[in-house]
Amino acid sequence: MLHRLLSHFSSDLAVDLGTTNTLISVVGEGLVLDEPSVVAVEQGTGRILSGGCAVGHLAKQMQGRTPDSISVVRPLRNGVITDFELCEAMLRYFLRKAQAPRMRLRPRVLVAVPGCITPVEKRAVFNSVHRAGARQVWLLAEATAAAIGVGLPIAEPVASMVCDIGGGTTETAVISLADTVAAVSIRTGGDAMDQAIVDYLRRHFSLRVGLPAAERLRIELGSAYPLEEEQLQQVSGLDTVSGLPRKASISSEEVRQALGDPLGAIVDAIKAALDRCGPDLAADLIDNGLVLCGGGSLLKRIDRFISEQIGLPVRVVPEPLTAVVAGMLICLEHLDQWRHTLQSSEDDI
Ligand code: ADP
Ligand code: MG
Repeated sequence: MLHRLLSHFSSDLAVDLGTTNTLISVVGEGLVLDEPSVVAVEQGTGRILSGGCAVGHLAKQMQGRTPDSISVVRPLRNGVITDFELCEAMLRYFLRKAQAPRMRLRPRVLVAVPGCITPVEKRAVFNSVHRAGARQVWLLAEATAAAIGVGLPIAEPVASMVCDIGGGTTETAVISLADTVAAVSIRTGGDAMDQAIVDYLRRHFSLRVGLPAAERLRIELGSAYPLEEEQLQQVSGLDTVSGLPRKASISSEEVRQALGDPLGAIVDAIKAALDRCGPDLAADLIDNGLVLCGGGSLLKRIDRFISEQIGLPVRVVPEPLTAVVAGMLICLEHLDQWRHTLQSSEDDI
């Protein structure tokens, strides 16, 4: 009774606080917010621009085109909070935007976190979300949320395997009977791929390009496995010797070569997770295979590449960017069933 009354004035929110994107779903409403995890601040004062509203989409539009007095900051790196004040301000803005005005009580918030974060980093997430306006905070491992979100039968006595390739981290987990049997979380994802492209262009083309240009190349030209028709694309940057602007033509094969190390690290992480499974569970995976999600899994032919490397069937889910938040929403909607997998700020961590 009290619960029903409370739910009229307070919402339960699922927050996928990603290194690249923050997504929020509300129980009873679904996905209500999907914005980049960035904030635009005035240098020196650290004040958020546009009266505190230069967050998310608005801040992203300013990226790379701002005068020296303004910087566009990402409050998270590799899945962990690196700028506490800005992260809190960003979350406060997003939480307010995600809730209906009639909600007078502070919300209960479920947040997904990478498996590799330390207890101190976890505590930082609890504190930030509490201070940003939550009444109660729970944490859930991103890989578990992803597995629930993509519809794997994780409560059954068979092994399911999921790999979420985000901007800052890659989370791999094998789950059976709603329990994580093996989990490997590494700080490699889309950002590391972009850095690898920047390094490659400097080394092989004497060309300096920024990370946003590298990301565009990866999305448009990049692939993990040979394409039926390889392509060429022009890229503009600064000559490392003369310092002058110039163009170069780069091929999809070259971008693939540039991505060799980060892709190798992702495959190693998946193999390490497989190595930690017992033989019976590994046998289940021969049939069920590996499911990929996260924005990084949109790299062309990554399923084929990983499948050849690990010898298992691999598929990318239809909605890779929303898998984690979809799983979190299911947890909140069936809180009694999933409560034991969530960590609350009152638990020991
Ligand atoms: P996070 O959980 O870390 O916020 P996301 O799951 O939202 O990350 O994925 C963000 C990553 O997905 C970025 O590195 C982005 O470049 C990448 N991405 C998004 N769309 C594509 C695409 N079409 N092709 C390849 N990569 C993509
Ligand atoms: Mg993510």
